[in-house]
Amino acid sequence: MIVAIASGKGGTGKTLVTAALAEVWPRPLVAVDLDVEAPNLHLFLHPRLSPPEDAVIEVPVADPARCTACGACVALCQYKAIALFGDFPTVFPDMCHGCGGCLKVCPSGALTPGSRVLGEIMDGRAGAIGFLMGRLRIGEALSPPLIRQVKARLAEGLAKTAGRVDALIDSPPGTSCPAVAAVSGADVVVLVTEPTPFGLHDLKLARHAFAALGVPVGVVINRAGTGERRVYDYCRASGLPILAEIPFERAIAAAYSRGETAIGVSPGLRDIFDVLAKTIRGLVVSVKERTAAHA
Ligand code: SF4
Ligand code: SF4
Repeated sequence: MIVAIASGKGGTGKTLVTAALAEVWPRPLVAVDLDVEAPNLHLFLHPRLSPPEDAVIEVPVADPARCTACGACVALCQYKAIALFGDFPTVFPDMCHGCGGCLKVCPSGALTPGSRVLGEIMDGRAGAIGFLMGRLRIGEALSPPLIRQVKARLAEGLAKTAGRVDALIDSPPGTSCPAVAAVSGADVVVLVTEPTPFGLHDLKLARHAFAALGVPVGVVINRAGTGERRVYDYCRASGLPILAEIPFERAIAAAYSRGETAIGVSPGLRDIFDVLAKTIRGLVVSVKERTAAHA
């Protein structure tokens, strides 16, 4: 079972929820940080990490001596990552998405594969929890290919366990390409929000973005007891189940600032996350049972 913890906006408590869920989730479990632009799940789970491995993307290298200036590569590239200046082909590696199309259409072998480092991938263990994360290189703009590479590593690991290992994914915030790349393929999406106008606005965006994935989506309301009720009204009106409410408490924020999970700092939080873990598992199981009944 793969659980994606996501949010329409940053700062709602997505990593807090992921870390606390990891603490109570039945083992075996792997926790995955796909918020590659600003990964911080490791700061709460404190894994022992392997040395980082470079994650690279294939980018073309041009040989002007072989180029016939036919323009096929320029016409093909949707990202304007390759241009002809007179008879000289020029690649802008930072704009290249690594699709490989220009290499295929070049009739004269003037383009050959090179590479650009996107970032790094690390794995490790936090006690009984497996751990996997990606970290985007500073200055790199393209995070989805790195997210896909970390997910491929996850899939490879999960395939060896014949479905016995669950995965909790800390996804990038928002609803753009990195978030969709991280969340797609999950069995259930948990949207973390807060009872504020911004929380509501971005929850609506996230619901529309992730509903298309066709998997159950539920909501965790963080900092409950503050703000206003419109998030609750929206969830009720749109049929989004509220899976848990995490109270607004200074002790939780203080623990977070010390790199500790929320469990244990406030009476009742362990119970809240225990119930949340069971509810999430129940959502996935009921969908699988319904699917099996209709098969
Ligand atoms: S690999 Fe794809 S994105 Fe990169 S320059 Fe070639 S066509 Fe453009
Ligand atoms: S497709 Fe090859 S030959 Fe044609 S312009 Fe590009 S690099 Fe030159």
